[in-house]
Amino acid sequence: MTDERNDDAVEIGLEAPERSSADELLDAGAHSDLDAMRHSTAHVMAEAVLELFPGTKLGIGPAIADGFYYDFALARPLTPDDLAAIEARMAISVAADHPFVRRELPPAEGRAFFAERGQPFKVEILDDLAAKSERDGTPMPPTSVYEHGDFVDLCKGPHVASTGRIGPVKLLAVSGAYWRGDQTRPALQRIYGTVWETQEELDRFLWRREEAKKRDHRKLGVQLDLFSFHEISPGAAFWHPKGWTLYQTLRGAMRDLQARRGYQEIYTPPLVSQALWERSGHWEHYRENMFLFEAEGQTFSLKPMNCPESTFVYRSRVRSYRELPLRLAEYGVLHRNELSGVLSGLTRVRHFVTDDAHIFVRPEQIAAEIEGLMGEIRESYSWFGLEPKLTFGTRPDKALGDPAVWEETEALMRAELERSGLQYREKPKDGAFYAPKIDIQIEDALGREWQTATIQVDRVMLPERFDLWYVDEEGRQQRPVAIHRAIYGSLERFIGVLTEHFAGAFPLWVAPVQAVVIPIADRHIEAADELAGLLRARGLRIEVDESSNRMQNKIRLAQGQKVPYMVVLGDREVEARTASPRTRAGEQQPAEPWDAFADRLAAESRERRVE
Ligand SMILES: [Zn+2]
Ligand SMILES: [Zn+2]
Repeated sequence: MTDERNDDAVEIGLEAPERSSADELLDAGAHSDLDAMRHSTAHVMAEAVLELFPGTKLGIGPAIADGFYYDFALARPLTPDDLAAIEARMAISVAADHPFVRRELPPAEGRAFFAERGQPFKVEILDDLAAKSERDGTPMPPTSVYEHGDFVDLCKGPHVASTGRIGPVKLLAVSGAYWRGDQTRPALQRIYGTVWETQEELDRFLWRREEAKKRDHRKLGVQLDLFSFHEISPGAAFWHPKGWTLYQTLRGAMRDLQARRGYQEIYTPPLVSQALWERSGHWEHYRENMFLFEAEGQTFSLKPMNCPESTFVYRSRVRSYRELPLRLAEYGVLHRNELSGVLSGLTRVRHFVTDDAHIFVRPEQIAAEIEGLMGEIRESYSWFGLEPKLTFGTRPDKALGDPAVWEETEALMRAELERSGLQYREKPKDGAFYAPKIDIQIEDALGREWQTATIQVDRVMLPERFDLWYVDEEGRQQRPVAIHRAIYGSLERFIGVLTEHFAGAFPLWVAPVQAVVIPIADRHIEAADELAGLLRARGLRIEVDESSNRMQNKIRLAQGQKVPYMVVLGDREVEARTASPRTRAGEQQPAEPWDAFADRLAAESRERRVE
């Protein structure tokens, strides 16, 4: 994927992973009735394109999440007018209610059929299948085609019964694609469309797509002056003052929570020797994702995670059972060598920080610790009015350690998940290879799901590979359990998600600027500074707009910056020392004395309330 492709996905509102093998090319992407309808709509679209543009070469046309596409080799680039014409032609086919009929042809006949019709891409797929059968020594299966009206396509199905079953359709966009996702192969035009059972569902999807464009955190990041990205460091945000304030506010809230829960914060070096990764196993399995350097004949890497280094703090002295649980938090700077092509704003980066912690406990403390962590999740997500959904991944087939120990750990975790009252779903065999895990997902304002963080109960990787132990009541050495835990996950990604969820209108406690004081004339500036001072003394983040702009412009500017409160000061307010706050939603609140206003805002901010 290229950067432009990522931009396209936001612009088009659909994502389509590239397909290259013959099996992938033949997969209609239809896993449900709705998908079958979407794929059927792709056939109808191909029929329309072929009729409007005779000689078109057909690529493939699968169903994808929320819609479908079809790839075409055409003599000229398509325009928006063409899309309207194609849509109109499709409506005729839908009205005709042609049945979809499946036929099977002997392989040679199937190949000849598409060769005669000048469809080289279809012929290539059939040739690939034939070559594969020969390699495997299996007979070539018959060529299955689906037919509706006069249109015939190479296809395994499934389809709806007839074109009349197709719901309301909207063609969305045209973008470039390469045959089989390969830049050395022919360039095609991909038409994306969406189709739903009802008009209401279609309208809802189109609204969601428009909203997603407006909420794109990369655009809002510029508009709100939060951060920027530069070619000199791909995949790493340059934080501007407002964005960095936001960042530190979120981290500060988590630090508060961690302090209340008895965490201690550590910091370990970003640059570490290859020897560490050999011991942790990352050298073998993860090396290609790490940035490597040579110095004085040794290889070093920028750490992609904090886990192994935390054990050096643990092992710096003998630990007694009395010290456990030992909760070591770390906001370490992490780097992962992602291909520059997959980087996308704050959600796919090379440089990031997580609200990471490694909690070392005795085996009998696992349940109580999970209970505490469930409380952390419930509290921290309530700060944003978000409802976390959890998934519980159990032992995969290739797992380190004793299956009986896995079972015991899983039973403890399951019991705590039940008790927590949080929504969760079990995903068998979806654990990490060294630990069962609880993943946290949130659903944003547009109904999109985001994976944020994870809790893993590790009884093998850190404890055994790094030979961790503590001394028990009887003076014997025992293995602790290491719980890996992050609640926000990557702060960068979390801020990207929050920016889109709130469309940049962050709750008061998070907003980089919480109120703007607006003096109407120069003679009100002194009073404005005094009010700002009162507010700042209570820890609030305040700006005074001393520019020569007119009052209405100042208000519009603050609204554009999505500042929660605006306070306009004129003769009357200065005289009475009152504030008549106006919210960013445009609500005019009653006048109140400066101190009362300042106290109210400070309380609202402290309580991390969501409007
Ligand atoms: Zn089909
Ligand atoms: Zn870890």
